[in-house]
Amino acid sequence: MNMFETHPHQILKYCPKCGSKLFVPQKDNSFTCHSCGFRYYYNAASAVAAIIIDDQGNLLLTKRGIEPKKGTFDLPGGFVSEDESSEEAVVREVREELGVDLLEIKYVKSYANRYEYSGMTVFTNDACFICKIAPDAQLKANDDVADFHWVNPKTFDLTKIGLDSIRRMVADFVASR
Ligand SMILES: [Zn+2]
Repeated sequence: MNMFETHPHQILKYCPKCGSKLFVPQKDNSFTCHSCGFRYYYNAASAVAAIIIDDQGNLLLTKRGIEPKKGTFDLPGGFVSEDESSEEAVVREVREELGVDLLEIKYVKSYANRYEYSGMTVFTNDACFICKIAPDAQLKANDDVADFHWVNPKTFDLTKIGLDSIRRMVADFVASR
């Protein structure tokens, strides 16, 4: 399936409020229900990723334990919850996935991404943070992380990173060093 076939305009058929079939895609990123008047926007979801570097310049990568791109390398991170800032989200996600607290976080830039999940294209806006953890921090893979590895970012094969925005993030980080 290509991204056009799995675009929300192709996948969403019924109004999620009243169940009508008169749920019509609009020219922008929305639908209008011509039965009950409900308006639905599929905006990009806010997400965060952490570039964690140790004192030797090694980069912490996780192994994805869930779809999409299960089994590929990733950065720690995830989606921003309701009523949460991006800064709070990156601290929470790293704590959930690796059991450690971030000591420093510095926002770098954001990356647009799209991928297929559950048969539909989803859109995200991924905020990148450069972070530090304590040198003696005891890491433990939890949650949706299967494993973690410290790698040399200059020699690591970036094609092993499954998500496009995360690959671009790490490539930009390596280029900036
Ligand atoms: Zn409706």
